[in-house]
Amino acid sequence: MGAGGPDEEDNNRWPPWLKPLLREHFFVQCKLHLDSHKTECNMFCLDCTNGALCSLCLVHHKDHRYIQIRRSSYHDVIRVSEIQKYLDISGIQTYVINSAKVVFINERPQPRPGKGVINTCEVCERSLVDSFRFCSLGCKFVGTSKNFQKKRRQMRMESGSEDSLSCSSSSSHGENNKVQSFSPSTPPPTSTPVNYRSAKRRKGIPHRAPMAGLIIEY
Ligand SMILES: [Zn+2]
Ligand SMILES: [Zn+2]
Ligand SMILES: [Zn+2]
Repeated sequence: MGAGGPDEEDNNRWPPWLKPLLREHFFVQCKLHLDSHKTECNMFCLDCTNGALCSLCLVHHKDHRYIQIRRSSYHDVIRVSEIQKYLDISGIQTYVINSAKVVFINERPQPRPGKGVINTCEVCERSLVDSFRFCSLGCKFVGTSKNFQKKRRQMRMESGSEDSLSCSSSSSHGENNKVQSFSPSTPPPTSTPVNYRSAKRRKGIPHRAPMAGLIIEY
């Protein structure tokens, strides 16, 4: 029971729990288990997708599929061994942290791309190693969506440059054109009977009543 929308095809391609997972905040105090100080929420149930769970919450999800979120320098990661059971993570850069292979859940802000970097994330342009296409689950989710692929192709065609702003400026151009063609270029005629009557009744009001623009249509 999704909200539906233009991305329906993309929704079918990805499991329903992925979007909630990408949006979730982990390593927060559990709302249900405030008393215990050891209850940091670092679990996520793929069947319930009901937010970050602490180890006490997890008791209610014993038979469900859940994954553990870990942290690497303040960013959320998932072990490859856990996530690849449920999701195709090909193309996503993996890292070895504490001798375990992990992937980042979301993109991390990067001040500027490193010098001489050849390969970057297709979505956020973080520099990547080898032939990886995405820096994180989130970027793969965005980068493989139909909308993103279309936008990317358009951007390349419109401006051969790497200027990412070209996308938004082109869309506002389209809007301007529409507005211009919509506004009437000639003053409204005064000969139509409706206009004549209303003009006569309201003495003192100039011919250009706000309604005059609509009368053109008849
Ligand atoms: Zn809890
Ligand atoms: Zn569950
Ligand atoms: Zn990225």
